[in-house]
Amino acid sequence: MTMTTLKHPDSLYASQQGAQSSHSDKPLPKRISHLVIGAGLTGLQCAQRLAEGGQEVLLLEQGPVAWGASGRNGGQVLAGFAWGPRQLSQAMGEERARRLWQQSRDAVQLVANQAKAQDVGVQWGGGELAAQSSHIKSLSDFVHEAASWGHDLHQFDQDEASQRTGSDRFYGGFVDQKAFHLDPLAFAHGLVRSYLDLGGRLHVNCRVRELTKQSSGFAVQTDLGSLQADHVYVCTNAWASALLPELSSYLMPVANFMLATKPMGPSTNILNDQAAYADTNFVLDYFRKDSDGRLIFGGLVAYDTNRKGPDRARLEARMIRTFPGLSGVGIDFVWAGLLAISRLRLPIIGSFADGGYYAAGYSGHGLALTALAGRAMADAALGHRGVFDDLASLPRKAFPGGRYLRLPLLLAITSYQRLRDHLER
Ligand SMILES: Cc1cc2nc3c(=O)[nH]c(=O)nc-3n(C[C@H](O)[C@H](O)[C@H](O)COP(=O)(O)OP(=O)(O)OC[C@H]3O[C@@H](n4cnc5c(N)ncnc54)[C@H](O)[C@@H]3O)c2cc1C
Repeated sequence: MTMTTLKHPDSLYASQQGAQSSHSDKPLPKRISHLVIGAGLTGLQCAQRLAEGGQEVLLLEQGPVAWGASGRNGGQVLAGFAWGPRQLSQAMGEERARRLWQQSRDAVQLVANQAKAQDVGVQWGGGELAAQSSHIKSLSDFVHEAASWGHDLHQFDQDEASQRTGSDRFYGGFVDQKAFHLDPLAFAHGLVRSYLDLGGRLHVNCRVRELTKQSSGFAVQTDLGSLQADHVYVCTNAWASALLPELSSYLMPVANFMLATKPMGPSTNILNDQAAYADTNFVLDYFRKDSDGRLIFGGLVAYDTNRKGPDRARLEARMIRTFPGLSGVGIDFVWAGLLAISRLRLPIIGSFADGGYYAAGYSGHGLALTALAGRAMADAALGHRGVFDDLASLPRKAFPGGRYLRLPLLLAITSYQRLRDHLER
């Protein structure tokens, strides 16, 4: 059988990483205690936690490490969920909601500590910018709700937004100085190194083709042969429903696009506060400046996930709309990534059988939550279910239209929201 070997896209991150040849060339074992599928940040955090606990772990990845969203994203590590404290409390009770909120803040700190231990540089500050004047109220409400839970965010007005960002597009915003940004692929490579140092096993370019629950454990078919596993963790995000079809109406794979400019030089008056930001539109833009002075800008969304190339001209036009001074700056890299969104924009975490776990659908807010969810699955399997049970009780809703009609319906909703983003401007 001929198989295509997956490679990282020509992204800024991939260009900065040397060859990574840490995977095993040994044959697959016939049986393993813990099988983690997908070496993105969820799978890496889960596998590392199990290896820290002295467990026998095998991590399988269909491409190179962090081939999915984890190696291609905006690198913004933020606390909280897409829902604010009030909405979360109403849906799941204040005690549980507060606990989860605090865990998401701890996860940000954990990722910062892991990055430090791996010598991956971070730049502090992350926040949100009001793209419409009508968004200021919900942004203020969010800042007040977060403060009432001891999470201090600095809110600022239109003038300060312009000074901080170098753009006149925004009506105000907030920044969290405990949030930060980093190179996500470098971070994933750091995680895999520490997992391998703990004795974990990894096979890259090995897709799991089928997963079957048996009376005891799971039968697993892969590109490199079959094996039995006592515990299985499906950490395949945008691809999760290929192995677990029951998740297909809860998860929608979407493509998102990024570019990196040439280094801008010290005289460019952009993002002088060094923080990373996202705007408040439904189809949002997000950006940060890295330590070399490149602007890393993301946005646009495509539901046709077979699309090969990113829409360079449209993405560049969006960047220039926010930063007109960057017209003609020179773009070194443009790339696309697939992520999974859920209807309520909250992650979809749970158990599909005794000993079988999944976590996916972080909806663009996964850099810290993957640490929380990945480690919570491992802890649950080892008998400590507290955090996992909290995460598994996050509200979820199926996309309307079920598996086949969800796409046209979502396209209609997005077109309407895009029009609103445009008309409210
Ligand atoms: C362009 C873009 C920008 C983003 N920006 C941000 C941001 O700034 N901040 C933020 O918090 N979040 C952001 N996100 C979201 C974030 O990247 C994700 O939430 C997070 O990386 C999810 O990690 P994961 O490990 O669950 O999934 P993934 O990283 O997608 O990993 C899943 C892995 O499973 C592998 N796989 C799939 N099927 C199989 C199989 N059958 N067998 C073996 N392996 C398999 C895939 O190859 C992949 O490597 C962004 C996402 C994208 C795409």
